[in-house]
Amino acid sequence: MRKVIWDTGLPDALAGFPDGNDSEAFLMKMPVTLSSQLAEIGVKPEEVEYLALSHLHGDHTGNDNLIKKATVLLQKEEYPGLFEGETVNPALDSLKDNQSVKLDEDHNVFGDGSVIIKRAPGHTPGLQVLFLDLEETGPVLLSVDLYHFTKNREARGVPAFNTDKEQTFASMDAIEAFINPTTFKRQGVIFK
Ligand SMILES: [Zn+2]
Repeated sequence: MRKVIWDTGLPDALAGFPDGNDSEAFLMKMPVTLSSQLAEIGVKPEEVEYLALSHLHGDHTGNDNLIKKATVLLQKEEYPGLFEGETVNPALDSLKDNQSVKLDEDHNVFGDGSVIIKRAPGHTPGLQVLFLDLEETGPVLLSVDLYHFTKNREARGVPAFNTDKEQTFASMDAIEAFINPTTFKRQGVIFK
């Protein structure tokens, strides 16, 4: 079975702080590590074919250094933060040896519509979200930081730290249209 991992969360090293690590902005805890979750489902990190990253913030990329052999799938606007400038997270350094694909549109990962990356810039210049259509779940959208809370979606609230407010609104509109049950059709939709 082909494998893609979508974001790697906070660093597993946080598990060494049972009461959490209190930065100035957040209290961060890691009760269950990514490594242990992979082991639990019998997946070795080197078996993962694609490392698809929604964006490069540290709470989404903390264990990228575990996934050494995967091809990185990232929108082109995020690359300056990965290879071409200062990295935002030391975990990204090891990705310099990974193959990578610079996306500039939606991407049908396995070509069968089961895993589709959707461009949704605004939170960061190259944010992407993930659409899944799996036998066990049916269609699911992992919206990551397009919406931080339900109320962001309900009130179209855009956090002050997003890189582009208008782009965020445009992405919200595009993604909402994509998942709208009256227009969404599993069959017959053509994905690139
Ligand atoms: Zn973020």
